[in-house]
Amino acid sequence: MSFVTEAKAQPVSTERVFSENGANPVEGEVVFKPVKAAWIAGMTAVALVAGPLSVTPGSIAVFIVLTAITICGGHSVGMHRLLIHRSFRTIPVIEKVLVYLGVLVGMAGPFGMIRLHDFRDWGQRQSDCHDFFSHRSGFWKDAYWQLSCGINLKNEPVFVIEDEVVRDGFYRMIEKTWMAQQLVVAVPLFLMGGLPFVVWGVCCRVSVSLIGHWLVGYYAHQPRDHLLYIKGACVQGYNLPRLGLVTFGEAFHENHHAFPKSANLGFLPGQTDPGWWLVAGLGRLGLVWEVETPETLKTRPGLSVNGETSLPDGAQGWLRTLASK
Ligand SMILES: [Zn+2]
Ligand SMILES: [Zn+2]
Repeated sequence: MSFVTEAKAQPVSTERVFSENGANPVEGEVVFKPVKAAWIAGMTAVALVAGPLSVTPGSIAVFIVLTAITICGGHSVGMHRLLIHRSFRTIPVIEKVLVYLGVLVGMAGPFGMIRLHDFRDWGQRQSDCHDFFSHRSGFWKDAYWQLSCGINLKNEPVFVIEDEVVRDGFYRMIEKTWMAQQLVVAVPLFLMGGLPFVVWGVCCRVSVSLIGHWLVGYYAHQPRDHLLYIKGACVQGYNLPRLGLVTFGEAFHENHHAFPKSANLGFLPGQTDPGWWLVAGLGRLGLVWEVETPETLKTRPGLSVNGETSLPDGAQGWLRTLASK
């Protein structure tokens, strides 16, 4: 009989996800989500069948412009940097426009996006987590899981969205109707350019955005060379250096794990971050303020840079120096 009990690491809580109830990030069941699967498969099927038949200069231009606006202004800046991380502040109307553009990406409503992001972030910060959170189960299995399933944890953590967001009438409305919001784009597109505009401006755009989002998430968690490392976290983020422009800065996921609240994701030398250009541009117009960057943030516990762990706050300067070595 052994009296030695193994010290089990307690799950750490994050801003909205609380582990104190004995939540377990490892044990859970991946379950098929028919509505999510049908939504993504439906958009992709139309894109594959009708897309090639609807190629016109106009429909391709609509696809590029709407994808850039919804992914950059909506997903990256509105949903991720503003609503989820509060990495800057702005006037209510700009926040609503940016979050609405994020809903038009076609991934989820605002509460669903916060939940998806925060559960994954919470899982990745623990000493161990389910493969669903870590993207380590292999390419095709991960594709199936992330594009058509969800996870039911045996012991879920407590998840609380802040009052001013969860009680907001506009957010509640777009949460309930996020799929139908595609009609707000589809109807004017149909009137302007007929079916080819709808096929490329809605179906191809939503399909490429959702599959692209999964691909970036998948590759940004596959181990590779890195500068920044979080000790104690079971999953690390990695930068995808050549994808800064097409992901509007979201490819710098190693930077994001190191400084989650930074509005600037591409803060190391040579990194292209169009989402940051938008935040900085709004800042120059006086429309955003309290913009967080590695310079303004406290260094995250456990962060090491090139193996160096005694790190000062106000990191941007020494990060640049270390990165150039
Ligand atoms: Zn991550
Ligand atoms: Zn994030």
